[in-house]
Amino acid sequence: MRKYLCPDYYFDTYREITPAFLLEVGIRYLILDIDNTLAPYEQPEPDEQILGWLAALDAVGIRAAFVSNNKAPRVELFNAKIGIPMFPEGKKPLRRGTVRAMEAMSAIPEQTATLGDQIFTDVWAGRRIGARTILVPPIKDKRDPFTRLKRLLERPIMRYYRKRKERVSK
Ligand SMILES: [Mg+2]
Repeated sequence: MRKYLCPDYYFDTYREITPAFLLEVGIRYLILDIDNTLAPYEQPEPDEQILGWLAALDAVGIRAAFVSNNKAPRVELFNAKIGIPMFPEGKKPLRRGTVRAMEAMSAIPEQTATLGDQIFTDVWAGRRIGARTILVPPIKDKRDPFTRLKRLLERPIMRYYRKRKERVSK
């Protein structure tokens, strides 16, 4: 379980994920989460940093699609200036949204990664379609009991990630 849900890569923010890194590890297609991955919940539109980051991916031919568990108006407004394939109410970790996103990008799992802030949503969704998984910490975490519980359950998985990384770098 820990191994299954352990992300392949962890970054402190999406901005650290460079086109060069993605190309080096053979990722050509990105399934993007929005909330708390690219922007906090209360930010309705992408800022210049997000637009710049997506433009840099596009410039090297890396394709992207949004799969969000949030509702259509949120995703549509966020995507208005970006215009990539989008799948609101993606119901991650279920497969439907992510599979449709891969189809929309003509992607193959071996060259695809999910990017998100939640292990039990984004990482799990990526695993289920045989893609790689990139985790970032939530930009601004909610403080409700359910979210706290999820973070608590994520902890042993992240401990496993750090241990595995130490092993690799030795
Ligand atoms: Mg999220």
